[in-house]
Amino acid sequence: MKVATIRSLVCLGIESTADNLGVGIATSNGAILANEISTHVPEEGGIHPREAARHHAEQMGSTIGEALQDARVKAEELDLIAFSQGPGLGPSLRTGATAARALASYLNVPLVGVNHCVAHIEIGRLATGAEDPLTLYVSGGNTIVTGYEAGRYRIFGETLDIAVGNCLDTFSREAGLPYPGGPAVEKHALEGERLILLPYVVKGMDLSFSGLLTALIQEYRTGRWRLEDLCFSLQEIAYSMLGEVTERALAHTKKAELLLTGGVAANKRLRSIIGAIAEEHGASPEFVPIGYATDNGAMIAWTGILAYQSGIETPIETSYIDSRWRLDRVEVLWRD
Ligand code: AMP
Ligand code: MG
Repeated sequence: MKVATIRSLVCLGIESTADNLGVGIATSNGAILANEISTHVPEEGGIHPREAARHHAEQMGSTIGEALQDARVKAEELDLIAFSQGPGLGPSLRTGATAARALASYLNVPLVGVNHCVAHIEIGRLATGAEDPLTLYVSGGNTIVTGYEAGRYRIFGETLDIAVGNCLDTFSREAGLPYPGGPAVEKHALEGERLILLPYVVKGMDLSFSGLLTALIQEYRTGRWRLEDLCFSLQEIAYSMLGEVTERALAHTKKAELLLTGGVAANKRLRSIIGAIAEEHGASPEFVPIGYATDNGAMIAWTGILAYQSGIETPIETSYIDSRWRLDRVEVLWRD
């Protein structure tokens, strides 16, 4: 018999929405015991969904093994298995879901399907101690300004086309910079000084990065500009757009905390813009630590615990992935 009321729950979470395979282990006390990440690096071009899925399948066993070892937990001691159920790339998601189902049924423990975007917010709250932040979530696949209101994470603004991280990655690939593009663009931007005119597209509370990307690539191909100035301009324009929408949402919601999360949250220029906005509005700026910024399994494990403790379980029969599962469709039962 499991005495779950006395000791804390231990959950293993599998993240596999895109190019990262993550396996994390969290407890209901809020301790992260392991956070293993194995990244698929494409030989050329962007992420190929089937190649990424093959990588995840190949690395699944060893990544789970390493996470258990780091946590000093035996598989039989796990109380719960969580997995990212969406949104993301179908083949990658299915690989993670298959492993999670197999583990849960073998160990005879509950399974919880977690929304990837919710998990980015929840790990940000856990890691920074923010209670009710307005959140800017920026990554390779998502660009969302969100805040909790009446049972859900409401979307105040989002991209209408590509994510900001995708814009950085695609430009850097075109310019022959190393993958992933965000850090490479950031490094070159430090040496930039000239602002090149590029499309700044904010429509109401939503954003668009595809016109900016196309114009940037065209300017790059003319050979007229220094790469440093192109990177500098890309950062200034893209991050100002993010800042504008975030600031309006913060002014409207009057939240006392402003959280920056997702892979692009590692960027120092974006952090300084978000920090300035928070200060201007008397909110406290909160930055997710780098290890939890990018896609990871710890955030899935932790969110799995929150969901399970509020009565949510995902029966194996209905544990299909949903590659388009929107953040604001999730009922967030663990918050007041
Ligand atoms: P994620 O999708 O959350 O795993 O985050 C990956 C994205 O974060 C990719 O698009 C990266 O280019 C981006 N990224 C990582 N580090 C940085 C950085 N220092 N500046 C900007 N973007 C970054
Ligand atoms: Mg992500």
